[in-house]
Amino acid sequence: MKRKLLWFASSVVLSFGLLSSPSSHVEAASSIKEGTITAYWLTFRSGPSTSHKALDYIKKGEKVIILKDGSTWDQVLYQGKTGYVHDNYITVKTLQQSVETKTVNAGSERLNVRKGPSTSYSIIGKLNTGATVEILKDLGTWEYVKSGSTVGYVHSDFLESKGSSGINVSDIHVVNAGETLWSISQKYGVSVQSLLDRNQLNSNLIFPGQRLSITKKAETIDNRLAGKVIVLDPGHGDDRSGAVANGLVEKEVNLDITNRVKKKLESSGAKVILARTGDTDCMPLGSYYEDLYCRPEVATENKADIFVSIHANAFTSTATGAETFYYKQSDQKLAQSLQDAYVKETGLHNRRVAKEDFAVLRVSTVPSALIETGFLTNVNDSKLFKTESGLNNMATGIYKGILKYFGY
Ligand SMILES: [Zn+2]
Repeated sequence: MKRKLLWFASSVVLSFGLLSSPSSHVEAASSIKEGTITAYWLTFRSGPSTSHKALDYIKKGEKVIILKDGSTWDQVLYQGKTGYVHDNYITVKTLQQSVETKTVNAGSERLNVRKGPSTSYSIIGKLNTGATVEILKDLGTWEYVKSGSTVGYVHSDFLESKGSSGINVSDIHVVNAGETLWSISQKYGVSVQSLLDRNQLNSNLIFPGQRLSITKKAETIDNRLAGKVIVLDPGHGDDRSGAVANGLVEKEVNLDITNRVKKKLESSGAKVILARTGDTDCMPLGSYYEDLYCRPEVATENKADIFVSIHANAFTSTATGAETFYYKQSDQKLAQSLQDAYVKETGLHNRRVAKEDFAVLRVSTVPSALIETGFLTNVNDSKLFKTESGLNNMATGIYKGILKYFGY
């Protein structure tokens, strides 16, 4: 255990290139600290004073690694970048020191290993299904892992716990700042009462860092979309990146949101097929239009009930909000359902629902809509694409819009 701990500590430091030697200052490195942001949006600056420029804004509840715990300013790592935040708006705790292992399960795909904890970071490696990874840091949806010589961030949906002690640790939720039993119950689709019972809690009071056991009961099985076939189209792919702005690449955020929507739809019993599953085109060797026509064709071929194309927008920096398009008048209901649920869930500006002659809608033979999830070119919209909660709300909005279309 000791050896693993030392390795863990040094590898974190090494991978960020902060110390020249992995073996130096083991004592200091073993007390690596994690900070949780307590201000609503905390400014992440290039230096330790308000006169230094803002590099980013960190949302309440997000985590950083503390490099230097100062009295007024802390030097921290946030999404792979070093900077400073004011010490008053951060709660610090020592990182967990045991190393847990999990197994990759990405089906027939290879799991992307990224430089940072979001799809906006570059891919630095790939792992096969069945590979064992050591969890260096659990960030909830993303985990910082090591497998062989590969070290980086992977999406936790594609990791399975081994559960050596008989407890399936994927059923353990570590409470984040700002979470309530209600929000956790919603996240896992369980009742508040089941959380109270399972964890033998006497009140609704929970605290950040607390570990809660989650049990899904048979009563929560959701079959609302059983028998429905839904084709989702993450816009663009491969050398067609779509919009690029504010450090975001459209093809990547489209795929990230789509994968989240897929999981949610499947949890309600739907069969979900994607027009592309990785950083590829729908028709890799096709022309621009052949690739576009390929996407609704997937829906036709699979006799889908609906086809939803997912994109992100770009225009001038002041353009903001979500908009949903349809081509056939009979598809207006689908577009409206998506738009209504989406803006409600994300809080984004409600631009419009409109008829538009997009190729993917025009040639579709099943009810179809195309949602523009927000403007990558707008600073406020783009923040949603950069946080777990933002991406999750976007996916929930689309999922609820689909439920609404089917009468739920
Ligand atoms: Zn697009």
